[in-house]
Amino acid sequence: MSTSESIPQSTIEEKLFTVKYKPGPSSHLIPNQDHCQICPTKACNYFCPANVYHWDPEQHRNLVAYENCFECGACRLGCTYQSIEWFYPKDGHGVTFRHG
Ligand code: SF4
Ligand code: SF4
Repeated sequence: MSTSESIPQSTIEEKLFTVKYKPGPSSHLIPNQDHCQICPTKACNYFCPANVYHWDPEQHRNLVAYENCFECGACRLGCTYQSIEWFYPKDGHGVTFRHG
């Protein structure tokens, strides 16, 4: 058996199943809505693995389902304008990972 066959692989859905959320009272992710309105890519809507961001053309706002965030940090770098205010949830809120 090769090494790659002996390492169990898991899908992103399986990994997300190991995540437990304790949402805080307010968002720890604050996109700059002025930038979102002119953003040509809306990239966060595509690369966030937890589908946290959703551009709403009617409200003309980037909606943020921060409760689903598992704090991977990708949007800090991947935002087209790098203008998402981002901090870890405080007071024991946020994500924990189950193992086993
Ligand atoms: S990539 Fe950045 S600027 Fe563009 S919609 Fe997402 S948060 Fe807003
Ligand atoms: S930190 Fe990761 S999971 Fe959370 S909103 Fe950003 S890209 Fe999505």
